[in-house]
Amino acid sequence: MHVWAISNQKGGVGKTTTTASLAGLLTARGLRTLVVDLDPHGSLTSYFGISLESAGAGVYELFQDVAAGKPPDPTARLQSTSVEKLDLLPAVMTLATVERQAGTVEGFGLVIRQAVLRLVDHYDYVLIDSPPMLGVLMVNALAACNRLIIPVMADFLSLRGLERMQRTLAMIGRSRKQPLPFTIVPTLYDRRPKVSADSLQALKDRYGENVWGGVIPLDTKVREASQAHLPVSLYRSSCRAAKAYGDLLESLLRLDDSDSEETGLKKHGGRQEKKGMGSKRYGEQTGTLSI
Ligand code: ADP
Ligand code: MG
Repeated sequence: MHVWAISNQKGGVGKTTTTASLAGLLTARGLRTLVVDLDPHGSLTSYFGISLESAGAGVYELFQDVAAGKPPDPTARLQSTSVEKLDLLPAVMTLATVERQAGTVEGFGLVIRQAVLRLVDHYDYVLIDSPPMLGVLMVNALAACNRLIIPVMADFLSLRGLERMQRTLAMIGRSRKQPLPFTIVPTLYDRRPKVSADSLQALKDRYGENVWGGVIPLDTKVREASQAHLPVSLYRSSCRAAKAYGDLLESLLRLDDSDSEETGLKKHGGRQEKKGMGSKRYGEQTGTLSI
């Protein structure tokens, strides 16, 4: 099983869209996929046509399991979607309160990681959509994944936002005792203004190999797809964004193939708990993010 977190400390950069789009393409390849909505706004949950009020149970209950001293149990909280082979662990209204509880309950940083580890036999891919701010929910996403996907709008303001994400990544890397592989994905790309090309070049100059070679273009079909509650490839497979997400998936799968020996979660205990991940406090200390 592979776990990808889609994260950036900035809203409106295409995190939720990227999660839904990649999930649609993974299932089309016959891969059993789970999407996890870690944003209290529940955009991914709504994307798949499920309302936060009616979701019943979801990610929040996993945290309550841990608060009650039990291991988090994801199985009863999974929901199927209209897309074959695609399940959702939804956000519910109360998820926002987890950030407040985090200071008082031990072990809140690894809830999603523990939950996901229980699903190793059920899914080939788990994609985690995260909120735009650094807090216990984002930490959960970063601690649970073996690859981070950072959608970034190619403009200079977003580049500055990315520096914050880099610092978070460095701290997480120190807690995990090894760097977390990441891929920066230029999104909402407008080919017309020269400023887009300049910022894209600045991104590549700065982050080199970690920037995916393509771009996800601005495409009105993306919004239409979300209104139809479908991943864009299932809504209009021939549109530019669907094709670009297809190319992105190919690159990500190649990266997973080349380093799956180190990062994949193996069925039979192949993944070792890494030292430093067991610390129960969440907070920033001496440049290390304790989980
Ligand atoms: P985030 O999750 O980072 O806040 P979203 O995925 O919700 O970002 O995207 C923000 C808005 O931009 C949404 O309304 C979405 O439909 C729209 N959007 C995302 N990607 C594209 C795209 N490639 N072309 C056009 N609109 C897009
Ligand atoms: Mg979102």
